[in-house]
Amino acid sequence: MSTRPAPQSFPVSVETLVIGAGAAGMVAALSAQEASQEVLVLERDAVPAGSTALSAGLIPAAGTAQQRAAGIEDSPARFAEDIQRKAHGEADPALVRALTEAIPEAVAWLTDGLGLPLTLVEDFDYPGHSRRRMHGLPDRAGASLVDALRSLCEARDIPIVCDRRVETLFTDAAGEVAGAAARLPDGTAEEIGARRVILACNGYGGDKARVARHMPQIAEALYFGHAGNTGEALGWAEALGLKTAQLGAYQGHGNVAHPHGILITWAVITEGGVQVNAEGRRFWNEAQGYSEAARAVLAQPGGQAFTIFDARIAGVARQFADFRAAEAQGAVRRAETPEALAKLFDLPAEALARTMAEAEAARASGAADTFGRHFGATPPLAPPYCGVRVTGALFHTQGGLAVTPEARAVRADGRAMHSLFAAGGAAVGVSGSGDSGYLSGNGLLAAVGLGRIAGRQPL
Ligand SMILES: Cc1cc2nc3c(=O)[nH]c(=O)nc-3n(C[C@H](O)[C@H](O)[C@H](O)COP(=O)(O)OP(=O)(O)OC[C@H]3O[C@@H](n4cnc5c(N)ncnc54)[C@H](O)[C@@H]3O)c2cc1C
Repeated sequence: MSTRPAPQSFPVSVETLVIGAGAAGMVAALSAQEASQEVLVLERDAVPAGSTALSAGLIPAAGTAQQRAAGIEDSPARFAEDIQRKAHGEADPALVRALTEAIPEAVAWLTDGLGLPLTLVEDFDYPGHSRRRMHGLPDRAGASLVDALRSLCEARDIPIVCDRRVETLFTDAAGEVAGAAARLPDGTAEEIGARRVILACNGYGGDKARVARHMPQIAEALYFGHAGNTGEALGWAEALGLKTAQLGAYQGHGNVAHPHGILITWAVITEGGVQVNAEGRRFWNEAQGYSEAARAVLAQPGGQAFTIFDARIAGVARQFADFRAAEAQGAVRRAETPEALAKLFDLPAEALARTMAEAEAARASGAADTFGRHFGATPPLAPPYCGVRVTGALFHTQGGLAVTPEARAVRADGRAMHSLFAAGGAAVGVSGSGDSGYLSGNGLLAAVGLGRIAGRQPL
């Protein structure tokens, strides 16, 4: 990717050019059009999908109508506290505030304004969230969210031109961005002028060299995000001398069914399940969160673990399309006793039975177990028991372009750009500097929240 001085004129020009058609790009495009701007979206793939389509499509928001209907009292300030607690206080407070205040409006706009039937996940907690505040489409599938956003763009005649990998940003004499050039599959290039550009092309999880440089601890793990997220936004930021932040931050996940490669919702843990290694022993406090679980699981023999839960919990998890797919593919196995479950996964039966008994004793006592985990009010695991072999993976990067609360890119000297914005995974997130600062939903919070903010900015 490169930056070049803008040509004298462009064959085509638009007011707002959006690069990338994931949640961030399409929310930005819909919002910009609503602000009466002429919008064009360029997408490298043949069909928009992105990491958004791989996700559960759950958007965290505090103070929504869905929460009020469920009797849940919540506020952006409380949500902001939860984000900072998980991020060890390392997230930019101005960005946290902007996102937590923008997101309830965005959810209401998606629901009431655009007609997406977003409902609240009411039946289980996500680690680190002091209130239930995840909103998603009924099938809890990000693919449905992407498809719904694309249909909304199509219905509003917002052009999403696919098979256009943007490689170059054009700059004017003032160092502002004036357009972009995209490569077509036949090798030719198209140049498009723009009064402003919104980078919505996610992060650098698909760029092995950048992952190795910025987050070596996860470099050897499976990358479970969208392969086309190869870090162009970061490359342009470097070329333009823009500020970037927290490049070592990422979201991992330690509950990916192996070898099936299907995400198993962390609800199986928060509802009371545990993880054991090939020796049938627990190895950490799973309640800390699923992002840091990737490292914990990868450190076990064979880089694998076994997540143990029961049929009641499977019933909760079944609301996720991914979990249903995992069951259909035989990744989730059941047995009437711990010993029989151990046999299914070739685990030492006695050790697994002892581990499960110890976990039940800790649960019954109400005190923290030896790893510091409190099981809270979760009921004891009961037969039939369920298990799934899992591994750890890198889901997406959380570092990126530093942005103002208006989603504007920032120059090295701290001045905000007039013409360049970043949203979603292209921008720095609110997850601190490593893997343990990621609060569930931070990904789509930044995609939908910053997409909405960026899209609404005036020309
Ligand atoms: C398995 C999985 C589960 C997840 N679950 C959740 C969840 O439930 N909740 C949550 O908040 N987050 C979740 N996340 C994270 C979340 O998916 C992302 O943070 C979010 O989708 C990012 O949205 P985006 O629009 O920035 O990026 P994307 O959805 O990845 O979209 C970026 C788009 O830009 C395109 N693109 C890239 N480079 C170029 C280029 N040079 N030119 C043109 N187009 C380009 C890509 O093809 C892609 O379509 C999950 C992630 C994964 C991988």
